[in-house]
This record gives sequence, C-alpha cells and structure tokens, in this order.
Amino acid sequence: MAPADHRLPTDTDNGLLLIISGPSGVGKTTITRGVERSIPDAVFSVSWTTRAKTDADVEGVDYHFVTDEAFEAKKAAGGFLETAGVYGKKYGTPSDWVVEQLKRGRLVILEIDVQGAIQVKRKVPEAFAIFILPPTEDELLKRLRERKRESEDQIQKRFAAARREIAAARDSGVYDAFLVNADLDATIREAVRAVERARRAVR
Ligand code: 5GP
Repeated sequence: MAPADHRLPTDTDNGLLLIISGPSGVGKTTITRGVERSIPDAVFSVSWTTRAKTDADVEGVDYHFVTDEAFEAKKAAGGFLETAGVYGKKYGTPSDWVVEQLKRGRLVILEIDVQGAIQVKRKVPEAFAIFILPPTEDELLKRLRERKRESEDQIQKRFAAARREIAAARDSGVYDAFLVNADLDATIREAVRAVERARRAVR
C-alpha cells in the first residue's frame, strides 16, 4: 500500500467520518451495510473485539476477533481511535486505517456505541453521527423476540440496555440525526441523504 502521505489519483479532499449507533434489534447493521453499498466511496471500519465469534460473524469482515492481551497491547500503543466495554467485552476502532482512509477522501463508517461516539466526536468534531431509533419501545421488544437468539431473560436484559442506550444517546449531545427505523429501505435512503448533506457542508 502507498504511504499515507503519497497522494493517489483517486484521492479527494472529501473524507468524512460517519458514526452509526443504535440499540441492538433496531436494524443498525443492515442500515450500516445499506449505506455502505449506496455510497460509492464508503468503507466500513472493522473493529477489534475480545468477544467470541459466532457462526454469523466473518473474521476480518464483521470484526477482528482478538485475545485480551492483543487488544490491551494495541491500546497501550495508542492504536485505537476509541474503545468501549460492552457486555463485559472490549471493542475498539483501529486508528491508523481510519486516518489513512480519511486522507484518501473516503466516507469511513464506524458502527459503534454511544461511549465510542462520545470519544470520536471529542477527537474529530466534524464527524457526522446518526442514531437509529425503533418506531416504539414495544416494536423493539417484538424485534428482539423475533430474532429468537436468546432466552426471555436475556431479551429483557437487552431491552433494558437498549432503553438506557437511547437515553444516553439523547443526553450525550453528540448525535447530528436521530432516524426512526420504521422501514429499512426508507431509513437507508434517509441516512444517505443526511450524509450527502453533511459532506456538502464540510467541503
Ligand atoms: P455486537 O457484539 O452485538 O456485534 O456489538 C455490540 C455493541 O458494540 C453494538 O452496539 C456495536 O455497535 C458496538 N461496537 C462494535 N464495535 C465497536 C467499536 O469498535 N467501538 C465501540 N465503541 N462500540 C462498538
């Protein structure tokens, strides 16, 4: 790969960090991937995590699955733009890759939680942050149940955590847009329009 200071013909000055957050069960991953597909120069930042890989995860695509030691070593070396603890596991955004992609003028998408969004906005105030909301709390509970991944007890814990996450997002003051996901395609279109407006504004 070319060094970061070497300008390529495809480089632009149009780089923007896009943060997408939302509680589990809200359709956040589908929306993130939809935005990535809809914007030609969008790239997805693959986080490091110490959580166990599930059958639904692809190493290097969804996450880099690492040991606690590897995570802590990278953190000590200043290798993360932000880190967070979620359900007792660690998550972090590798900074080198993100900085490199921003220099290339890309739209760099971070799918991270509120703790992470607060840290990123502190370092990169021009980052654009979207929070995805469920249409109603009842609808969120219904969607968590429909995933059939967990016991009712676990579902109730996720639901309580989701309510806390929504409250924390509102209190944080870091989100530029709150989008209600009543319809996936419509929400993706709305997110893309919001990003296009933000990019015109920073140019
Ligand atoms: P999951 O383990 O279900 O994929 O993700 C759990 C939560 O961690 C989600 O809210 C997700 O957005 C968040 N998350 C994933 N990667 C990162 C990261 O690198 N940093 C932060 N702060 N949160 C992350």
